[in-house]
Amino acid sequence: MTPFPHLLAPIRLGDVALRNRVVMGSMHTGLEETGDWERVASFYAARAAGGVGLIVTGGMAPNREGGVFPGAAGLFSDKDIANHRKVTDRVHENGGRIVMQVLHAGRYAYGKECVAPSAVKSPISPFVPTALDEDGIEKQINDIAMAAARAREAGYDGVEIMGSEGYFLNQFLVRHTNRRTDGWGGSYENRMRLPVEVVRRVRAAMGPDAILIYRISLIDLVPDGSSWDEVVTLARAIEAAGASVLNTGIGWHEARVPTIATSVPRAAFTWLTARLRPEVGIPVITSNRINTPEVAEGILASGQADMVSMARPFLADADFVAKAAEGRAAEIAPCIACNQACLDHTFGGKLTSCLVNPRACHETELTYAPAQVAKKIAVVGAGPAGMMTAIVAAERGHAVTLFDQAARVGGQLHLAANVPGKEEFVGLIQWFDTMLGKAGVTRRLGAPATPTDLVDFDEVVIATGVLPRDPGITGQDRALSYIDVLNGAPVGRRVAIIGAGGIGFDVAEFLVHSGQSTTEDFGRWRLEWGVGDPKDVPGGLAAAGPQPEAPAREVWLLQRKAEKPGRRLGKTTGWIHRAALQMKGVKMLGGINYTAITEQGLLIERDGVQELLPVDDVILCAGQTPLRVLADDVMANGSNVHVIGGADLASELDAKRAIDQGARLASRL
Ligand code: NAP
Ligand code: SF4
Repeated sequence: MTPFPHLLAPIRLGDVALRNRVVMGSMHTGLEETGDWERVASFYAARAAGGVGLIVTGGMAPNREGGVFPGAAGLFSDKDIANHRKVTDRVHENGGRIVMQVLHAGRYAYGKECVAPSAVKSPISPFVPTALDEDGIEKQINDIAMAAARAREAGYDGVEIMGSEGYFLNQFLVRHTNRRTDGWGGSYENRMRLPVEVVRRVRAAMGPDAILIYRISLIDLVPDGSSWDEVVTLARAIEAAGASVLNTGIGWHEARVPTIATSVPRAAFTWLTARLRPEVGIPVITSNRINTPEVAEGILASGQADMVSMARPFLADADFVAKAAEGRAAEIAPCIACNQACLDHTFGGKLTSCLVNPRACHETELTYAPAQVAKKIAVVGAGPAGMMTAIVAAERGHAVTLFDQAARVGGQLHLAANVPGKEEFVGLIQWFDTMLGKAGVTRRLGAPATPTDLVDFDEVVIATGVLPRDPGITGQDRALSYIDVLNGAPVGRRVAIIGAGGIGFDVAEFLVHSGQSTTEDFGRWRLEWGVGDPKDVPGGLAAAGPQPEAPAREVWLLQRKAEKPGRRLGKTTGWIHRAALQMKGVKMLGGINYTAITEQGLLIERDGVQELLPVDDVILCAGQTPLRVLADDVMANGSNVHVIGGADLASELDAKRAIDQGARLASRL
């Protein structure tokens, strides 16, 4: 008996039978824009082969003005159909079902041609949209319906219409973006006319058999958003207009509440899907921060939704469903919701991938073929780079021994796992541990490897990581290092942190919190970020605003660069870290020179003026340098040596680069 009977139960959507209740949610990968549709097809085919019930593609523009950015992929013309056909054929050959998401970005379209109900600029775009006239609205409806008709011709099982996240259709629903006084604005009936008409026309264009998912915003998380009554009214009208299923959308893109970041509690918004479910007669899909089959099963078993959508977890592991079905859930590579290789790449104009799975979106180029000659390989260092190398090399057939002076594998991932809001790292370490065991990697832990230990190996991989940088500040022997602090060393009430990189921010987060992390306590997290209820306040922002708990310490977070601290953090998560620390009163200062650490505190110079920060403790988070003494010794022995991860290059090292480098090296050994 499977532990996931609800998740693996089949379901029918209209005339289409799905093999289980797992939806791979829509993600923009950037693959379509490469023009290499074999690559796009390989990406989706791998997920279909991995057992997912239904795939939703990345958002496809119905026309040029509706594209998320100039040149965004779409299905504007009949000549696009052959490309999309490659995708649908490969998914169907692998037993899957796939619908194409039609995404009209409205005022979020990053270009001068963008259109919207009214000429109201979004806070996250420099472009003022053109307000559509009656003919313009009709053109948009027609283009969306045409895209759906072409999607059917291309072999898709239907479409998902993106009606949430603050995109075009959502912009018609609320008064602050829809200031029209004609039949498309004013009363709610008028404001919801466009989404309902779009669904009606899409249904007519596709015929009765196709899947029609409407993604509806259940909580906008912006001021003056939709009320709960309006959400229910819209849901019923969308159902009547011909939708076969409702998918859950949470928060507009301009919302200042995190909705998918790792610090958001798992399944944090499913209560809204559960509330909608009895209001409609069609199935509802829940989403957001669901990343394990256990959580997904719990949601379905308790009747909160009919299906579960997960997006990024299918970057982390294409075989998520197959592994769950085969009783191998512990082998599912966990999405840690870091955004580092997916959304941060997307918004940085790079191809999407995954921190945990560098093969994501690189399926055709990074392959782990069985080794031609089985070798003896030593990997020194059981951090992310070393563990990934060991697993991939062993899976390919090599005999791998993993050395680490620590008694457990994981390296610096253990430090990250201690930071409030980064609990997902615990699961990542467990996954590495499981996979090392499954791949048959021999462990030599608890003592440093010596050059003599390494003589008998064909290849030696040095992944010994980093050492904290010595910043050379007078009196620094009084300071603590981030390693001490994250491992639980006692720290006073007033603290200065030297260095405001990723680790400085993590340490600040660690020090201002006390008790259980709010990521593990939904009620407190909700208060912290001011998430209310759209029944009480339209849009669902709490009337009282964010109510963070008092900080556990008074913290100064410092850097020498004269720029805003945190500017170089992740594109899609940096604002969350900055906002979280601001709410805790952390004083983030740039342009600092460190004069000395004294008994009285930290002496700094700012704008040419000396100042004493009266702190009890100073914590050094001043970056890192490669730890590669062993590498030089082993190379001197004449061994075949590879240096990776922080031991290779400490600057801007993170787990993403370490894992990617390990996987790529191991694929070639
Ligand atoms: P980092 O991001 O390079 O930051 C180092 C900090 O130390 C900077 O603020 C730098 O600012 C300061 N610094 C550098 N040299 C100094 C010196 N000689 N004296 C005093 N201050 C000095 O490195 P990190 O914080 O150690 O993080 C290491 C890596 O882990 C980074 O690549 C980071 O992206 C990654 N990481 C990521 C996350 C995440 O959430 N994604 C979390 C933790 C770590 P100034 O030079 O301006 O003083
Ligand atoms: Fe998940 Fe991070 Fe991978 Fe994105 S990069 S899919 S958030 S683990």
